[in-house]
Amino acid sequence: MWEIKGIVLTAPLKGEIDNVIKFIDEYLAPRGFNTVIMQVRYRYEFKKHPEVTGYDPLSYGDVKSLLSVCRKNNIKLIPKMNLMGHQSGIHNEPTDGILHGHNKPMADEPDGLLRAYPQFDEQNGVEEVYYSRSICLSNQEARDTVCELLDELMDVFEADSVHIGCDEGFSLGVCEKCAAKQRGELFASWINGINRHVRKRGGSVLMWGDRLLSSETTGYDRWEASDNGSYTAIDLIDKDITICDWHYNFYETYPSVDVFGEAGFKILICPWRDKSSLEAFLNYAKAHDKGHIKGILMTTWCGSGYLARRLLYGEKGKWLHTEQIASTVEEIFG
Ligand SMILES: [Zn+2]
Repeated sequence: MWEIKGIVLTAPLKGEIDNVIKFIDEYLAPRGFNTVIMQVRYRYEFKKHPEVTGYDPLSYGDVKSLLSVCRKNNIKLIPKMNLMGHQSGIHNEPTDGILHGHNKPMADEPDGLLRAYPQFDEQNGVEEVYYSRSICLSNQEARDTVCELLDELMDVFEADSVHIGCDEGFSLGVCEKCAAKQRGELFASWINGINRHVRKRGGSVLMWGDRLLSSETTGYDRWEASDNGSYTAIDLIDKDITICDWHYNFYETYPSVDVFGEAGFKILICPWRDKSSLEAFLNYAKAHDKGHIKGILMTTWCGSGYLARRLLYGEKGKWLHTEQIASTVEEIFG
């Protein structure tokens, strides 16, 4: 019923690229998926800024192979970076290329950008951070650098849109420069700066919606909505940005579907592994669609190689949530 049927896949590890290509060709395409958002972060062999290149990066040729199987199946391949939070984390066990956040202050590993440019860190010099590090949104050099990274990624992916993340930025507005600004304005200025850069090259932006929602008025928790004032940015950011409205918990209602519609945004409905929460969210969205819902975007957050091997060959995934993610994909999408 909706135009977009999408899935988020993490950039495959080197040894998994063929499995993921086969998964796109033989599993996703026959089930009608028409969009793959590839979570790249810094895992690409950047030419202009090789210093930010992350763990086990995709090569230029790897991207072209992934693009080729997507094109063959009329699937749009959209690259994704995290351009606020999630700039550090802890590797999954066993390592699948994903750095995950953590719910208590602890030392962790900076991802590519902050490893190369620690001065872009909103909490530069702080040894233990809550959840993950964020980019300082007042730093013009940081914005220029991420725009150059986006340009290179959109070029190699031959993409007309890009997902810029921007979820779960718990430390937004804490450095001296950022703390002096109103948080919604600070956040909106960062987002609009990137959006207008992408727009100028004829592209469009997708982002996660959680920082644009008030946890107090919506009832969502502090992951799925903001408790630090950033939500006032909803009235300030460009309305041509597609909002990826993600919710993983079960709620009686999902008021963000209405909030984003009333604010004038087009949205994607983004569930995760728990099937009953997914169904509750989807049912609410279907009943509250005012023509502003473009589609569904299934999130995964396990190594795409595990997911591919589990769904193609029935192999057991190694990360703790892989089995539930895979079985929900099977049950919902056949
Ligand atoms: Zn700052």
